[in-house]
Amino acid sequence: MTPPATGATGAPDLPEYAPVPAIAKGAALNEHGYHVWQVERNLYAVTDNVYMSAFLTTPDGVVVFDAPPNIGHNIRRAVDEITAANGLTNQVTHMVYSHHHADHQGASSLFGGDIVRIGHEETRRLLLRDDDPARPVPDVTFSDSYTLEVGGERVELAWHGPNHSPDNIYIHFPDHDTLMFIDVVNAGWIPIYNLNLSDDVIGYTGAPAIALDYPWTHLISGHLGRVATREDVAMHQQYIADIEASSREALASVNPGPIFKHYGENVWAAVSAHLDAVTEHAAAPVIAKYTGVLGGADIEVYTRTTTFAIMQSIRLDRGPSGPVHP
Ligand SMILES: [Zn+2]
Repeated sequence: MTPPATGATGAPDLPEYAPVPAIAKGAALNEHGYHVWQVERNLYAVTDNVYMSAFLTTPDGVVVFDAPPNIGHNIRRAVDEITAANGLTNQVTHMVYSHHHADHQGASSLFGGDIVRIGHEETRRLLLRDDDPARPVPDVTFSDSYTLEVGGERVELAWHGPNHSPDNIYIHFPDHDTLMFIDVVNAGWIPIYNLNLSDDVIGYTGAPAIALDYPWTHLISGHLGRVATREDVAMHQQYIADIEASSREALASVNPGPIFKHYGENVWAAVSAHLDAVTEHAAAPVIAKYTGVLGGADIEVYTRTTTFAIMQSIRLDRGPSGPVHP
């Protein structure tokens, strides 16, 4: 076997991209590799510039919201740093799960078995299915909404249908002017592959409008180095709307006839060539528009795979899937 080509540094030959736009710049990390900051009053966010978690300090204990393994033991360090500075208990008493995914909850078990974990009932079902000791199942579950009250603070949890995952919830901090809603909008960056690896295209594309229905100034969105603003959400919506419009145009304008004629009995080859042509036609103008505007926009496979998913949803969910045979 031929080993992969390596560059001067010994790393595999990796593609190069334009510098990230200012809107996508991360935070300055400390010597442990994290940055923690006050979002509003006693609500804090912690990031490693890839993942984001949050916690609420109260006189009765700390509530942690998501435990991404990427941040791992730095969640505890951040809690200790902030509670020590404010003379508050550093005891974590509650953990809220935004959704069941391991990349956001895989450090949950670091906080032991003696805390109250809260999540949607579907989160519990999926975690029982996945049987991962790193993600203990929630003890307290709800179907539509739940009010968490700890140490005089109030947090409103709500499920408004599937989006990124079947169980992804909206975590509203009405007294902190903040919403936590994970894995849909990335502040200053485009979604990664397939609408941020999402299960439900219609649910995902409709979710930002639901998020905007809540009153908030700060959005903790689970990734990257800063909280999102309402303008970030609007920009994300425009990116998705541009892909939808471009996909509709491409579906109408790319003619499958000559492709099917060319491949004859190999109909799967024709389907592939047709859908690839539609995807390329639809994605190209969006990639051009957002390069230099949003982080990651020149990583073309992200917009292409998201475009493919949206274009398929236009055909399969909304219809028509194609012309009716005469
Ligand atoms: Zn996720």
